Amino acid sequence: MQQSHNQSDSVAATQFYLEKLFRISVRLLVVEDEPDLRQAIVQALTEEGFAVDEAADGHSGLHKATVWDYDAIVLDLMLPIKSGWELLSALRKTKSTPVLILTARDAVNDRVRGLDGGADDYLIKPFSIVELIARLRALIRRSVGQSSSTIDIGPITIHLADRTVTKAGEAVAMTAREYALVELLALHRGKLITRTMIYDHIFGEDDDSLSNLVDVHVSHIRKKLGADFIETRRGQGYILHD
Ligand code: CA
Repeated sequence: MQQSHNQSDSVAATQFYLEKLFRISVRLLVVEDEPDLRQAIVQALTEEGFAVDEAADGHSGLHKATVWDYDAIVLDLMLPIKSGWELLSALRKTKSTPVLILTARDAVNDRVRGLDGGADDYLIKPFSIVELIARLRALIRRSVGQSSSTIDIGPITIHLADRTVTKAGEAVAMTAREYALVELLALHRGKLITRTMIYDHIFGEDDDSLSNLVDVHVSHIRKKLGADFIETRRGQGYILHD
């Protein structure tokens, strides 16, 4: 009885953490040529709190998917200029970004071919937006590979579920953006996070804050969590070590 209670607590905490994570730091690309459908998807995902970019053809879709590091891509297969197949094939030469393909109801072979070609999931048109959001969350969760609700780095503990940070057990007051930056670095600890990636994940497309603001946030975080907490790779970005 006690065990099942703990398990459900843990599931609830993980779900809560994912809700929070997805609201602050997930950026998606929607590649769909039908304007009404694209608009409906973009609007729904934006209302969910995702940062969303869009493309109306395969060429600009591939360009964006190559230039930016998205957390997931929603990809229609039948696209002008360059098909979804061509986009996926070109993208997979350089990137493993999770891709969910949209296929026509009668195109069973498309699904098999899509999954063989490097797609991670598919939905058949017409689909419900709720289903799309659930599938995207599952895709991103798998790619992040984070199931625990806390991350320990030396004396620092990041509590993903309630978005707080403690140092040696003591609560540390942080702004929402400081927390979001710490969380982003912690979820990708050991990996170089470029300034561009920080902008993609922490700030929206329309946020035109000056880039040196990242330095300001990092400087504040160091004062709170320790000078060595975040390493600066000069001219490259930032890295957080275990
Ligand atoms: Ca289409």
